[in-house]
Amino acid sequence: MNTSTKNIIVEKAKTSKINEIDFDNLAFGSVFTDHMLVCDYKNGAWETPKIVPYQPITLEPSSKIFHYGQSIFEGMKAYKDENDAIFLFRQLDNHKRLNISARRMAIPELPEEYFMDGLTTLLQMDEAFIPKASGSSLYIRPFIFASGKGFHASPADEYKFIIACAPSGSYFAGKVKVLIEETYSRSANGGVGYAKAGGNYAGQFYPTQLAVQKGYNQVIWTDDTSHEYIEEAGAMNIFIRINDTLLTGPTSDRILDGITRKSILEIAEDLGIKTEVRKISVTEVVAAAKNGTLKEMFGAGTAAVVSPISTFGYRGTDYDLPEVKDNYASKLKNIITDIQYNKSEDKYGWRFKVTD
Ligand SMILES: *Cc1c(COP(=O)(O)O)cnc(C)c1O
Repeated sequence: MNTSTKNIIVEKAKTSKINEIDFDNLAFGSVFTDHMLVCDYKNGAWETPKIVPYQPITLEPSSKIFHYGQSIFEGMKAYKDENDAIFLFRQLDNHKRLNISARRMAIPELPEEYFMDGLTTLLQMDEAFIPKASGSSLYIRPFIFASGKGFHASPADEYKFIIACAPSGSYFAGKVKVLIEETYSRSANGGVGYAKAGGNYAGQFYPTQLAVQKGYNQVIWTDDTSHEYIEEAGAMNIFIRINDTLLTGPTSDRILDGITRKSILEIAEDLGIKTEVRKISVTEVVAAAKNGTLKEMFGAGTAAVVSPISTFGYRGTDYDLPEVKDNYASKLKNIITDIQYNKSEDKYGWRFKVTD
């Protein structure tokens, strides 16, 4: 073990797995890099972060993560440009949101320097795993969970912060058929929908399975009280274009404050696209589909950037979206990915170069 200049303890993997990875056929988040960052919270403080070989974690059966689900995560990516320089995108927003999620789940907040120094050191060590093919990137998964022991239903006294990374290919979901959900809810007022808390996603699996059985790929979540307002598309924010106006719902207790969502809003405004952040009713969208003014619907999130929806189902009827030339989805996606891959000027200051 030795200590890096940034006060991170580093234990290098003895051999690399890189030759075992088929970089031409990368599924999303299923193969991992040589190393991971681990930082323990004990005795009321975060300890010095360590980089160790990627490996299983040992936990007591009474660890609170298993019983009470005290667990949060982030999703971000590292990108490589033509000259092998490495970039992150709005990474401090991921750190801020990790701490917003932490607060809500009574998990101790993580200092920014542990997050950033740990992440940049890890990326430099596993640099060879960041794919260069168009649309490929290194998916980064920072997460914190309760490792502390005890069956008592109260916050744990120990936590682990880990960053693990997975080289991932270009994300293309194909035609996405979604079902507007009116029975189940993803989140509620006063709940934890705005946090990237593990249990939020577990709660989505069953309603999504039901939708898949009916021939859909994904669920459109509506508000938990009236099921009349559109909130999110699976684990993505949702955008709806009616005529030439781009609509998305306001962030709240129930709607996650996506970094892709807010980037899209800012870029769209700069492009002169009319945007409206307001409640969007199912009635309005169905009427727009019927009278031909519904032009586009797409999900927005780090993994796919934008994921165009081809059909939505509502109360037994499927409504097909038209194929729109010069659609907003592709235009916005290209602008964002050009910034991410260092292919264009970044007037917003969103791109961050990872250097020594
Ligand atoms: C992570 C997430 C998003 C997208 O957030 P990004 O920061 O754009 O990746 C949207 N909705 C939910 C529920 C999410 O978990």
